[in-house]
Amino acid sequence: MKTKDFYEILGVPKQATVQEIKKRYRELAKKHHPDANEGSKKSEEIFKTVTAAYETLRDKKKRQVYDRQRSNEGSSRSRSRARPRPGSAYSGNWNEYDFERETRSSYQEPFSRTGFQQEEAPFDPDTPTRGFDLQFIIDVPLETAALGGKTTYAYEKYVNCAACAGTGKAGDGKCTICKGKRQTVAPVTVEVEIPPGVADQFTLRFENKGGEGKNGGPPGDLFLKINTLPHPRFKRVKSDIYAEIKIPPELAETGGTLEVKTLDAVRAIQVEEGTLTGEELRLTGEGAAILWGKKRGDLIIKFFISGN
Ligand SMILES: [Zn+2]
Repeated sequence: MKTKDFYEILGVPKQATVQEIKKRYRELAKKHHPDANEGSKKSEEIFKTVTAAYETLRDKKKRQVYDRQRSNEGSSRSRSRARPRPGSAYSGNWNEYDFERETRSSYQEPFSRTGFQQEEAPFDPDTPTRGFDLQFIIDVPLETAALGGKTTYAYEKYVNCAACAGTGKAGDGKCTICKGKRQTVAPVTVEVEIPPGVADQFTLRFENKGGEGKNGGPPGDLFLKINTLPHPRFKRVKSDIYAEIKIPPELAETGGTLEVKTLDAVRAIQVEEGTLTGEELRLTGEGAAILWGKKRGDLIIKFFISGN
């Protein structure tokens, strides 16, 4: 089998413009589409190969990476026989993204709860003791993680018993409210500022928002681990957002404008005449925030032609 060169596959020169590549791809796709060849295996193979080549060459960034790999290969052929691959994490197949994350169960419930049981430890119970650190998972909508925002988080923590002012005593006996434990569990709420572009599973720290200290000891800290909720339309890969958008065959055929919801706006986009399923449109600066800043990644719209 000869080396698969994307330019050779499409039959275009290395300097071909995107328009030329697109035009050539449409011709080949039409000719080799499985539907036009009674499901011929050979046609299907050619169609897949042609599509893979097109997916790489039509995208400026992927093409640059491919060209670089290709020239590296030429100059060091003996070192590696690896097939050039599209350099981006995005291979053109929606299902190949790895969106798997740790599951919720792998994260610990607040570890303070069991710690509290060793209450009557051998040391002096009047010793000032630091409050417990608490860690929880906070569910954050994809848009909020992508662009930042304010929210609140409600949780429970140990606070000094109000009835006995944290002494555990009432007269000669034990405080009946905390049963002598000096603390009670109370619901509290914390204001949370989600940093724009925060990574999934990132842990935010809130100083002194953990359990209160005993006998005048300092409070513990609160840790909130970001769990980005799945979104029905958007997938996020670092600072880029991917959206698959269904368009009717007529619109794909003739082209036209279409209103699409982005993370924070509605944009009128231009659907090109003769758009095919899998073709992409990149909206620069419509993605998630980059490195907690004001700059943003891109929104990549992938068209899916459907009559339904
Ligand atoms: Zn009490």
